[in-house]
Amino acid sequence: EFAQISLKDIDDVAKSSFPPCMRHLFHLFEKLREDHHLKHGGRMQLGLFLKGVGLKLDDALAFWKAEFSRKVGAERFDKEYSYSIRHNYGREGKRTDYTPYSCQKIISSTPGVGDHHGCPYRNFSEENLRAALNKMGVTGRAVGDVMDKVRNRHYQLACTLTFEAVHGSSCDAGINHPNQYFSDSQKIMQ
Ligand code: SF4
Repeated sequence: EFAQISLKDIDDVAKSSFPPCMRHLFHLFEKLREDHHLKHGGRMQLGLFLKGVGLKLDDALAFWKAEFSRKVGAERFDKEYSYSIRHNYGREGKRTDYTPYSCQKIISSTPGVGDHHGCPYRNFSEENLRAALNKMGVTGRAVGDVMDKVRNRHYQLACTLTFEAVHGSSCDAGINHPNQYFSDSQKIMQ
């Protein structure tokens, strides 16, 4: 498996190697915008992904606290939010070591108003998806190819084409897990 990533590297690896679903959630932090808050579904999806890429518990707590405490204060963060982060790392409750969500699970989730989790290929409007793809450096004919897959509801194939366009390299296995997207990307980047 992969070396652990530390908090200081997270912005760089997010830009180079996070799949669209996680870039979207991460972006909310990166820009320090929105309301320094993510609802439960987003915290779980991004939090477990970050755990999967090797963010240690202490760094995870620091990551979430830096944002959330701007909104709710450090004390309320410690009281209300740090438990569930430790819980995800198997340090609370039944001490289950929760695993990151697969594409299938993320695609079948049903984000409500104000939620940012889910799969962008399924949940974004066409306009927003095109903008997200452009931001990742996917342009020209590749965008049309991705949109064709989306229209046919082949979201993971759309993600695979995105991966290939971003990395200029084929992904024969296809994308079936956000953490696989990440590790395949890191293999190419290194
Ligand atoms: Fe994330 Fe999977 Fe959707 Fe790609 S296909 S954006 S990895 S959930």
